[in-house]
Amino acid sequence: AKSAGRGRFALHSQHTAKAAQSRLEIERGLHHAIDRHEFSVVYQMRISATDGLPTGMEALLRWNHPELGLVPPSEFIPAAEHTGQIVEIGEWVLRQACMQHGSWRAEGMDPGIMAVNISGVQFRQADLVQRIQAILVETGMKASELELELTESMLASNPDTAVTVMKDLRQLGIGLAIDDFGTGYSSLSYLKSFPASRIKIDKSFVRDIDINREDAAIASAIVALAQSLNIEVTAEGVETSGQLAHLSELECTDYQGYFFAKPLAPSEVRKSLRLTARA
Ligand code: C2E
Ligand code: CA
Ligand code: CA
Ligand code: CA
Repeated sequence: AKSAGRGRFALHSQHTAKAAQSRLEIERGLHHAIDRHEFSVVYQMRISATDGLPTGMEALLRWNHPELGLVPPSEFIPAAEHTGQIVEIGEWVLRQACMQHGSWRAEGMDPGIMAVNISGVQFRQADLVQRIQAILVETGMKASELELELTESMLASNPDTAVTVMKDLRQLGIGLAIDDFGTGYSSLSYLKSFPASRIKIDKSFVRDIDINREDAAIASAIVALAQSLNIEVTAEGVETSGQLAHLSELECTDYQGYFFAKPLAPSEVRKSLRLTARA
């Protein structure tokens, strides 16, 4: 038993050393990732709960590292936040998503709302609103077709400033979604002080919604809350028809998840937009 324990420890420390090494490689690699065209953006459709047609899509960043291959955002986003590079990277994603939206529009398609994730580090920049406005002007994107996804935790850390920034963004006509809703530490009632236009029910509540009563109850409470505040509510991470059957008893406005569409490269999105064009 003792040697097995030692064996496990050795394995574990090797694993940690390897992880630290790749963390370093990730932080170093991030410096050139934009210039070397290693980033790309994929888009995951959002589907209307009433007619099943797309209402928009979420831009998700992908990084193809020359040695490490595809590095998941869960690994490189925290690293980019740590080094501060997320500011430049986040603006690159926003510009890319707005340009892509514009080129689909130019081809006569209706991509709907373009949602872009904003990091807490970006959100804390004093000139965030001006920076976003500059990108809208530069790309010709209409504010009303852009939605920014913010997380509960980044709003909770400094609620007064967050409310001010959110009001400024809403004033421009930009939509604001609170992502991963239900996973933060905040109470449901404090949501009313934030001028959000959408909440996204975190996929951890959707995963077991058809087998776990507590998860189903939380999802239902979130939908009721959104309705009472008169804001839209998206259920994310919908993977199965069983989950969908449960969700359809609630009044979500939209769904997102592998059951409907995986995050897709622009060429795949184009095909799908052509197929689902509203009459
Ligand atoms: P998120 O914003 O909550 O995005 C949803 C994640 O769930 C995405 O993972 C998406 O691919 C995945 N997903 C979509 N449908 C399903 C489903 O049916 N089942 C499951 N299990 N997963 C599903 P992804 O692309 O790996 O991104 C992970 C996180 O990385 C995102 O979570 C977001 O927090 C962050 N992220 C991605 N792109 C960006 C970005 O451009 N900027 C910032 N700041 N963060 C980003
Ligand atoms: Ca998101
Ligand atoms: Ca989410
Ligand atoms: Ca998340």
